[in-house]
Amino acid sequence: MPNTPSTASIARLRGEFSCAATEAAFLHQQAGTIVRHLRRALLLCSLAYILFGATDLLALGMPNAIYPMLARASVSLVVIAGLRYVRNAASPAKAAYLASTVYTAYGMVTYMVVVYYRPHDILLHAMSTALLSIVIFVFVPNRLANAIMVALGSSLAFIALAWYQHLESTRHLVSVTMMILVANFFGVVAANRHARLWREQYWAQQVLTNLSIRDPLTGCYNRRHLNAALLDGEIARARRYRLSLSLIMCDLDGFKAINDTHGHHAGDELLRSFAQLAQAMTRDSIDTVVRYGGEEFLIILPETRLDGAVELAERVRAAFAAQRTEVGGLSLGTTASFGVVGAEFGGSHAVTPQGMIALADQLMYEAKHAGRNQVRAKQLGQGIDAVSRAA
Ligand code: GH3
Ligand code: MG
Ligand code: MG
Repeated sequence: MPNTPSTASIARLRGEFSCAATEAAFLHQQAGTIVRHLRRALLLCSLAYILFGATDLLALGMPNAIYPMLARASVSLVVIAGLRYVRNAASPAKAAYLASTVYTAYGMVTYMVVVYYRPHDILLHAMSTALLSIVIFVFVPNRLANAIMVALGSSLAFIALAWYQHLESTRHLVSVTMMILVANFFGVVAANRHARLWREQYWAQQVLTNLSIRDPLTGCYNRRHLNAALLDGEIARARRYRLSLSLIMCDLDGFKAINDTHGHHAGDELLRSFAQLAQAMTRDSIDTVVRYGGEEFLIILPETRLDGAVELAERVRAAFAAQRTEVGGLSLGTTASFGVVGAEFGGSHAVTPQGMIALADQLMYEAKHAGRNQVRAKQLGQGIDAVSRAA
């Protein structure tokens, strides 16, 4: 997560992250909550709206009440279609917002049918319109812009209709107009405040999560995250889809001597440059680089066969061996040793995170004993060394 103010800034009026990628990540993470709120809002609103059909019956009697009552009942068809659409959507949060917009717009159109059939109840309808606007702003989950379009649009349509029919005194119509506009205004303010607070809370949680799963010196993932989620998750995914997975264990060579000779600050800079190199040479958002110990790193390569992982380890090895890091006027460099393990999840043999790491560690130590600055590799479940290269 890039922790910069621009990625975290929230547009004041829209109440959304200014950065499209952050907003998309927010919606992706909150999709479950949004869909849950949508389901609840659509069911409760429709139930209340249909129950108010009783007032149509009292005001108009049968058979005159039939059309407004049918208009009210038809919103349940939109609810069924909307919830189905959201369930099958690739992007549930965006689909939920679309369903909310269609539902509220359709609900307000049907309400205009009720208004049309009961013109003498204009004061009661005005109260309902104000109430429905607030419901659209604060209860039905939606983008603020969409909610404004539906609530304010339908409110203005209602006001125009009330003035056009002019069945109430001008004094009442002015009050009605002001009441509805005030309801819309406070609805916008409340919805905007909620949207911004929700995003601020999300961002604070992202920052904390990031702090708890990253190593502060190198920016790599830390051991806690590896143990808690990373490797188990990747193994489960590889097993489910019968994919390959490879690991590379790396250990910097002669690192203690660098600390002893040039100080810990110099050692820290070398650790940083190794981490940057490993992160730059691996795939963004697919591979992960973990600081496994003091000067040990573990690289997790999903959907990667052993030969590809060995090739990568060899490239990182050569690049790091050739790299110089400037520290306090000195140009420092060292090498690293690598142990690579590949696993294919199409077969029946059991693969555990501990088993893969232990083998990668063992291979890395073999590379050390063979003279350092080299790559040793093995396919898990097979007894042969696939590659062994020295510089
Ligand atoms: P080998 O080639 O066998 O790997 O030898 P080595 O010196 O790299 O390995 P050894 O395990 O003897 O020493 C690792 C050193 O890494 C010891 C420790 O002080 C140092 N170290 C661990 N974490 C840090 C850190 O965060 N910063 C610095 N500067 N040094 C660290
Ligand atoms: Mg070590
Ligand atoms: Mg070492």
